[in-house]
Amino acid sequence: MVSGGGVARDVDIRTRTLRTDAGAQETHGAAPVAQPRCVGILSRVARSFTPAPDARLMPRRFTAPCVACATAALFAASLCGAQAPKSPIYTAGKLTPAQQVAHDIYKELVEINTSVTTGNITDGAVAMAKRFRAAGIPDSDIFVGGPQPTKHNVVARIRGRNPAGRKPVLLLAHLDVVEALKADWSPEFDPFKFTEKDGYYYARGTSDDKSMASIFVANVFRMKQDGYVPDRDIIIALTADEESGPFNGVDWLVTNHRNLVDAGIVINEGGGGVLRDGKPLFNTIQLAQKITTNFTLQVTNRGGHSSVPRQDNAITSLADALAKVGRHEFPVQLSEVTRAFFTQTAPLEQPAMARAMRALVADPADKGAVSVVAADEKYSSMLRTTCVATMLTGGHATNALPQLAEANVNCRIYPTETAAEVRTALERVVADTTVKVLIKTQRPSSPPARMLPEIMQPVAQVTKELFGDIPVIPTMSTGANDSRFFLALGVPSYGVSGLFMDPSVDARAHGRDERMRMQSYYEGQEFLYRLTKLLATNPTPVP
Ligand SMILES: [Zn+2]
Repeated sequence: MVSGGGVARDVDIRTRTLRTDAGAQETHGAAPVAQPRCVGILSRVARSFTPAPDARLMPRRFTAPCVACATAALFAASLCGAQAPKSPIYTAGKLTPAQQVAHDIYKELVEINTSVTTGNITDGAVAMAKRFRAAGIPDSDIFVGGPQPTKHNVVARIRGRNPAGRKPVLLLAHLDVVEALKADWSPEFDPFKFTEKDGYYYARGTSDDKSMASIFVANVFRMKQDGYVPDRDIIIALTADEESGPFNGVDWLVTNHRNLVDAGIVINEGGGGVLRDGKPLFNTIQLAQKITTNFTLQVTNRGGHSSVPRQDNAITSLADALAKVGRHEFPVQLSEVTRAFFTQTAPLEQPAMARAMRALVADPADKGAVSVVAADEKYSSMLRTTCVATMLTGGHATNALPQLAEANVNCRIYPTETAAEVRTALERVVADTTVKVLIKTQRPSSPPARMLPEIMQPVAQVTKELFGDIPVIPTMSTGANDSRFFLALGVPSYGVSGLFMDPSVDARAHGRDERMRMQSYYEGQEFLYRLTKLLATNPTPVP
């Protein structure tokens, strides 16, 4: 699944540039970060020079270099004792030992073809099991298995001090990748050869999802090296068939080996940060996802000779029904997650969209606001359940009245609704008893994860430590990832990675020349290391 991209694509960088500039003293700094007092000063200075959300109305103010802003930043730095800039997390050409370990694991994993048809996921699972062993995890805490010889998963456990305490933290990533043909890629890249070029790593899986998988494995080495022992167990599960295929590893583990992945909290793909002009703009945390359900609309008819047509016709009835479904808009809904999303995205948006988002949050029945927000396809699908016709079949001869016509209607259901409720709604919309509405395939409902301080506070803290004073925006994905299996069991599962990308150039997951910005990879490694430790150390002070 794509991480982080696609949110607030038309964000106006100017409203945030200064924040990241002024926060540069603490941005990308290695631990320990700037003292809280300094962070506060820098943030206040940044905020005092951050233009109002409608800064688009006066863009000139920020098109020229801002002398006052630069002075303010220097002033703030001097208040902080003019500390020398922290050494960056990542320096091109100079990997730290921990980064070199991550690099080597990343390269190894990417070069193992784990795609659905030509690959073998078990090879990836076995290779990572070997790495876990090398990091010092005993065999008894490493499990490799799956329902089919090429579809194995690997699960490893780092024992905490207090196994009777809080349930484990589960770090989840998928090993499988979307198909990739060399002929479809630029000539200089092979999708299964890890290639470095101009500050990026290129290959299938570099962003989805072998970056997180390799970071989780590499961070075990670092924990052991640092002598870090968590208070609660840390489980790492690297799984099969997230993208496609019938042997979904999380489904299989939850059903057959629940004890191996029984956790109190899950960290998964689905979140990431957004860069503009190479600077962090905001981070995201995915808390919810819509539920995919396919419906069959079916019309049967006694048929007959086409030279003797009648008013009742299976194809005509189905076409009428589909046209009604196509025009129907489900009611606007706001959840805790989408309310927070629109509230926090508004300041990053252009003035008209920002106003509409605020009005929508104040009153979801505000039709004017809804129409402005819904004009953006990405935001539109976050407002309501959607249903769209995706496949069509009907008739059996050119000269016969059709006896059967069927369509597939793919619905992305709001997490608080059920498939049965949507079916009832579709029947009402179609308003034709000759059209049957049948649930074809259904996934378990996945209620949103709560915005608990136990997760939101550490994510905000590490984001600030590494990337400066930028917001962490909660999101609901309109697609799906494996978090749904844990959410369905009531286990809070969060998509968060600290991997930043520029969606305008880096959103290539599942596509051609997939890549990962090198700096982002190592900053993501640091982010996930610090976040894991905060989550696994007890007690985590929560204000
Ligand atoms: Zn993925």
